[in-house]
Amino acid sequence: MTPSPLVEARNVRKHFGAHHVLKGIDLEVRRGEVMCLLGPSGSGKSTFLRCINHLEKVDGGRIYVDGELIGYEEHASRKGRAREMKPKQIAAQRRSIGMVFQRFNLFPHLTALGNITEAPIGVAHHSRADARSRGMELLRRVGLTDHAGAYPAHLSGGQQQRVAIARALAMEPKLMLFDEPTSALDPELVGDVLSVMRDLARSGMTMIVVTHEIGFAREVADQVVFMDDGIVVESGAPSRVIDDPRHERTRAFLDSVL
Ligand code: ADP
Ligand code: MG
Repeated sequence: MTPSPLVEARNVRKHFGAHHVLKGIDLEVRRGEVMCLLGPSGSGKSTFLRCINHLEKVDGGRIYVDGELIGYEEHASRKGRAREMKPKQIAAQRRSIGMVFQRFNLFPHLTALGNITEAPIGVAHHSRADARSRGMELLRRVGLTDHAGAYPAHLSGGQQQRVAIARALAMEPKLMLFDEPTSALDPELVGDVLSVMRDLARSGMTMIVVTHEIGFAREVADQVVFMDDGIVVESGAPSRVIDDPRHERTRAFLDSVL
């Protein structure tokens, strides 16, 4: 039996007023798989990621993470209607999903290590000592052991983004979402962040990565999904979608970023 996918989106729809931003997204991410989500600005990539992480609510369709319906409880009724979840359950779902944004959003008044241990201590109630030793291990993983005591203002953008990745990992998520994690970085800082993400992928983490880094997608992704105007235009192995796109819109997009 094939194991169920970790993420399953079925006909996901989202409007902002009259603006139809997601027009029925269907996709699956298997456990341990890396999916790279490509597409022009405004195509709905961030909105889709935000729906997975409860930062937006879908208007239609369903998203399952690890078999759990995101944001709703399945009703036992024959109609299979869903009702909204309690805030506590939503918080538990959100804790199991790590998210890294274009802007690093570190707490400016906390050190690198303080940023990483804040949620494990404050939310997951780990002991300070455990959180710190695990935090140091994560800093080692992102190549920042020597910067544990540094404040965000004294770190480069690339270092801040690596702290943000370590911070997300500190809650031991089963899924990591990345929304253009290198787009705000100076070009010379991009490589270190991508290399941390590559190691994370190799370690077996399930990841959805919105990115314009086509080289990264080709090398690391198991699956590439090209979105435009709220729909999935095409998807498949990187060699298929990137090197042999079937749709004119995909070709035009790749020409614009390559
Ligand atoms: P992408 O990440 O692919 O660039 P987004 O998901 O950010 O696209 O946005 C898709 C569309 O939805 C854009 O036209 C954007 O202006 C619109 N949009 C996103 N968030 C909101 C919001 N909170 N309110 C209104 N419109 C929004
Ligand atoms: Mg976006």
